[in-house]
Order: sequence, then structure tokens, then C-alpha cells
Amino acid sequence: MRTILHHIGGQAVDGGARRQPVFDPNLGRPQAEVVLGDADTVERAVAAARQAQPAWAAMNPQRRARVMFEFKRLIEAEMDTLAERLASEHGKVVSDARGDIQRGLDVLEFVCGAPHLLKGEHTVGAGPGIDVYSMRQPLGICAGITPFNFPAMIPLWMLAPAIAVGNAFILKPSERDPSVPVRLAELLLEAGAPAGVLNVVQGDKLVVDALVDHPEIKAISFVGSSDIAQYVYGRGAAAGKRMQCMGGAKNHGVVMPDADLDQAVNDILGAAYGSAGERCMALPVVVPVGEATAAALRARLVDAIAGLRVGVSTDPEAHYGPVVSAAHKARVEGYIQLGVDEGAELVIDGRGFQLQGHEEGYFLGPTLFDRVTSDMRSYQEEIFGPVLQVVRAQSLEEAVGLASRHPYGNGVAIFTRDGEAARSFATDVEVGMVGINVPIPVPVSYHSFGGWKRSGFGDLNQYGMDGVRFYTRTKTVTQRWPRSGPAATDQSFVIPTMA
Ligand code: NAD
Repeated sequence: MRTILHHIGGQAVDGGARRQPVFDPNLGRPQAEVVLGDADTVERAVAAARQAQPAWAAMNPQRRARVMFEFKRLIEAEMDTLAERLASEHGKVVSDARGDIQRGLDVLEFVCGAPHLLKGEHTVGAGPGIDVYSMRQPLGICAGITPFNFPAMIPLWMLAPAIAVGNAFILKPSERDPSVPVRLAELLLEAGAPAGVLNVVQGDKLVVDALVDHPEIKAISFVGSSDIAQYVYGRGAAAGKRMQCMGGAKNHGVVMPDADLDQAVNDILGAAYGSAGERCMALPVVVPVGEATAAALRARLVDAIAGLRVGVSTDPEAHYGPVVSAAHKARVEGYIQLGVDEGAELVIDGRGFQLQGHEEGYFLGPTLFDRVTSDMRSYQEEIFGPVLQVVRAQSLEEAVGLASRHPYGNGVAIFTRDGEAARSFATDVEVGMVGINVPIPVPVSYHSFGGWKRSGFGDLNQYGMDGVRFYTRTKTVTQRWPRSGPAATDQSFVIPTMA
């Protein structure tokens, strides 16, 4: 069986006795195993990063950008193989796996502009003979810890800006789909980055704790579930590190009475069930405003769901594939039962779905609940599966209140033709990313990504200029060059001012 190793100092590195199977969720059986590192593995990765980083940071930014351009070209050339491998470990359909890689490539493309992004500010004549300028310098060694659900995009959100601005990086990918991150590290090496600039350490909590505690690691980016995001954030921040930790989500889609219902249903379907609902920007809650909207929406959803095709990752006709693991499938089924027990109306039950020839795969049919209420635990918590909950509201204010009071605040959408309603919704709602007739409002690579409340701990978002800010620190220089003529002899004991 294939063994997925660490990638440290440009080499494949075995290490330690601990290993864990990597499953194919389509088949429900292991297809490989991954080594699990520990504090010693992290120490090795830090040593490789420490050796590589100063020369990488000293290289002029345009040359570093050329490496990033080549890295992008190499990933594009391998797109098909990478997407198939990714899909076989995650379970998403291959076309969606290509999207996962493409969204990462978008960030890579943005940071190819590193020479421009790194330019500081300059003021000539801030005082007599005084000029002020600032520069952005890399932090040194940074690390990223990523979830299973975007094994290409999220590592690239982090490592692309970190490396382009001159840091060395240690990535701890999800142990459930670790192959693509290793291949990314190999391709960066092939693109011309020195060995040790990007290291991949496989593992679980042991590695996470060792990264968070390591005194030479200056910044950590984490994406995963909220409890772990908060734990990692607290532990790293207490140690004085720069931290950005993104957590879970429960995004609401508000459907106004004037919405184009056919378009809205089309959008909601893809956003709720695409990738089997395993996206932090999925739309698992839909909020029709008014009883007439609710009835019309429900009828259309029932019809549309009947046309969904659940299939293996390689089925080009499938809308979505299996969920990632047997444990996750059981967890989602548990939430469906909880919804029933709490009194929600189960309109379509996705449990018990079986795909012929793949009976052991982790497949779930689409589930639809109506008359879900905000006091239900199945509403308050993240399910992360192909389950859509309808929560009826009587007014826009009530809908805004639902999304704003929810503990998560990642994304939200409104479907309407009314500009005034959309504008007040976008302004008032307490959520980090808003879509107006856009169901999955993941910002483009030159803006930045981040949720509010339990969806994000720390103050800088992923990628865009926030990514550049997160992985650099600003140094500001105030300089005065003596003029020719007699030296100034006056002394001053008051704080200098420009008055
Ligand atoms: P997870 O929290 O289980 O794992 C994330 C990372 O943390 C993994 O690398 C894992 O190895 C590590 N980890 C797991 N348990 C740990 C522990 N006890 N201590 C330290 N580290 C630990 O998340 P997941 O199941 O891989 O991913 C799904 C979650 O990620 C969902 O909640 C989803 O909403 C969230 N997510 C959020 C965003 C976002 O940007 N807000 C994006 C994608 C996914």
C-alpha cells in the first residue's frame, strides 16, 4: 500500500511509527497510509526552514515571483492528475476538485505580484530634511494547519502569500487527504524554490501542538472547526504568535418574496448539496420571507432535489459524491435524527441511500427539513453534510436577526430584486461575507476571506492584501541627513514634533 510521507528540506521523509489509513470514501476502504509526525518531525522541519529562509528572503522579490509563476504553471500542467487524486481521498466529484485547485491557483496568481505588494510607503519632507519610509519584511518561519475539505485551495491560501513575501513555511495538512499538499511541495521545489522553503509535516494534534508551541514559528494560520480553531488561537496567541484561525459555519440564504425563485432554487441547490455540503461556504439554511414564498420555495426545492444525482467522484454526471468518512456519515445521520426528534419536518430523508456497486462508500442522499426553528440544536450547530434546513421568517428584519444572532458568521446570501432591501441587508447583517443573488460569496483572490463570530478568531483575513499583511511586519524608518554647513548644536529634551 502507498505510504504518504513528510516533505522536509526538499526530501521525502519517513518518521515515527505512527501511521493512519487514508480512505477512498467512494469505496469505503483504505487506499494508502499516512505517516504521523511528532515534535521531533516539527523540529526537523524548523531546522530545514531556518536554513533556507534567509537566502530566500534576500532574493529580490521579482525573482521570487518568477518561481511562483513557474509553480503555477506546473500545477496547471498537472491539474487532471491532481484533481483525480484529490477527489479519490476527499470524495468530491472531479470537476469540483478542479475548482478546489483553481481557487488556490487564483491566490497564487495574485501573489505573483509580490514585488508590487511588498512596496512600502514613503513621505518626503515629513520635517526639515526628514523623510519617512516603511517596508514590509517577512516574519521568518510561518506555519499553516488545514482542514480536509479543500486540500489544495486552503494550503495555497496560506503558503502562496507566506512564501512569495520571503518566509519559509511548514504546512500540516489534514491527515484525511494528505497527498495533494505533498505534491504541491514537490512542484514548488521543481519550480526553483530552495529546499526547506516549503515543508509538509503530516500528523494530528501532536504536530499541531508542536507547531503552536515552537518558539521559532512566528505566525500560524489555521482553518478547521471552531472549537479547535479557538483552542489553537488561544494557545498560539498566549505564546505571542501572530494567529489567524478560521472556524466552522452555518450560512443562511434569505429568499425575499420578489426573488427570481427559479434562479434562487438553482443557486441554493448547488450551494447546499455541492461537495456533499462539506464546504464552509455551503448554504445549509434557507430562510424564505413570508408564507407564500416558503410554500413556493419548498415545492420547487422538492422537485429540484428529485433530479439530483449522487455518484462516485469520477462520475461526470454526478452532482456530488460521498462524504469524507464513515464517522462523518454517522455524524450527519445523527443530526438528521436530532432534527426529527426536535420536531422539524423531515420532507426528504437522505439516510439509507445506497449506490449500486458502492455499498460500502460513504454516500448520503439529499435531505430537506422544513419548519426548523432557531431554538433547535440541529439548527445552531454545523452539520457539514447534504442537509438543507428551511427556517421560515415573516420579515426581512426577522431573517437578518436569525443570521446575525447565529453563533457562526461566515457567509450569508440574499435573493431579491429589491436594491434597497439588499443594501440594508448587506449593511446590517453580522456576518463576514455577503452574497447578493450570489449563493457562495467566496471573495476573489485580490479581496480577502474571513468570517465573524465563531467562524474566525484573529483580526486579519486569508489572502488578498490581508494575506500579505499577515505574513509580513512593517518597519518604519524616519531619516534625516545632515545638510552641509555648521552642525546643529541645539539640544532638545521634549518629544520631537513636526509643529
Ligand atoms: P478539524 O477541525 O477536524 O481539523 C482541522 C485541522 O486541525 C486538521 O489539520 C486536524 O489534523 C487538526 N486537528 C484536529 N483535531 C485537533 C486537535 N484536537 N488539536 C489540534 N489540532 C487538531 O476540521 P475538518 O473536519 O478537517 O474540516 C472541517 C471544518 O473546517 C468545518 O468545521 C468547516 O466549516 C471548517 N472550515 C472552515 C473554513 C473557513 O475558512 N472558515 C474553511 C474550510 C473549512
